[in-house]
Amino acid sequence: MDPFRKRKDFKVDIKEFKRGDKTHHGRFVNFWDRPDLDDIPNIVEPSMHGMVEVMRGCGRGCKFCDVTLRSLRYYSPEKVKKEIEVNIKKGGMDRAWIHSDDIFVYGMDIKTSKNMEPNRDALEDLFKAIMSTGVKHTNPTHGTLSGAIADERLVPSLSKITNAGPDNLTGIQCGFETGSTRLIEKYADRKLAPYTPDEWHWVVKEGVKTLNENYWIPAFTLIMGLDNDEQPEDGWETIRLISELEREQPEAMFTATPLTFVPIGLLEKSEFYDMGQDNDPTQLGVMYKTWQHNFKYGIQKFMTKTGKHGAAGKLKATAFNGLARSLGGVPLGAMERYARRKGREHERVIERIKAEYW
Ligand code: SF4
Repeated sequence: MDPFRKRKDFKVDIKEFKRGDKTHHGRFVNFWDRPDLDDIPNIVEPSMHGMVEVMRGCGRGCKFCDVTLRSLRYYSPEKVKKEIEVNIKKGGMDRAWIHSDDIFVYGMDIKTSKNMEPNRDALEDLFKAIMSTGVKHTNPTHGTLSGAIADERLVPSLSKITNAGPDNLTGIQCGFETGSTRLIEKYADRKLAPYTPDEWHWVVKEGVKTLNENYWIPAFTLIMGLDNDEQPEDGWETIRLISELEREQPEAMFTATPLTFVPIGLLEKSEFYDMGQDNDPTQLGVMYKTWQHNFKYGIQKFMTKTGKHGAAGKLKATAFNGLARSLGGVPLGAMERYARRKGREHERVIERIKAEYW
């Protein structure tokens, strides 16, 4: 069995159906070969950075994602605990990095949770089991903003269990993808469930607020050139949303990393996005704005508070922060020079961002 090979009869049917005046997309997938949960062996040697898997698959159905085409399965808290104990005993780890693609889906019965309501009990049990191993710190790799706010008691409760606080911040990678409500509706409507695409900006802002209040810091990833379908106005909506977050929540802690579109998942027949060939200067603007945010807010304001676990961690964090502060402005200058070389339209985008969204 090769879990990375799609079966010959692998196929995805997308069916459109109407509920009231809304159009929904049902995705029916024949899965890859997959081992049963009992056939997935526990780790026997320590894993990198104390990372342990707690689930496979996702179920939110973003069209640009392969993970969601795999069947959704959760590891029991006992299995997770056993793997963390290997990392503690053999690797000397004092923390556990919890791998999932959306931690807030853990334990969810997808057949009954039509609106992706998180299963708080299951998540609490999982994190209690993790902390019962004696680790000092734990954080999930990925989670959705909608999942973080869908149950207002969830993140506060998990933070209490994991002892999150000003000196024990919880990092989590969240897909921001785009500020465009048009694109989010077209490519990732279920990423927002139980909310709707027209609520996307509110979800992002509320998500940042909730996570930060409970000592979690989201590291956002964005997709540039999504399905080669991005129009200038989509890019400006992204730039505007980041700028609004900064203005409305000046103490907000988040980073934003733009990535270019890769054709996988339901979009595997699309073309790669080639930024060098693209004539839309707004994409340069998205990169410019995200880096300006990371420099002005991430590096200069809150990065000093993160990554300080143990004496070695403190030393590394101090060295890295010093380097980032002194060199962090370099990419902005490089992008400005690139815009000058490309011409007036590119320069105008940079000028507009500086005037309106700085
Ligand atoms: S929420 Fe993340 S893991 Fe889940 S389908 Fe969307 S992109 Fe994939």
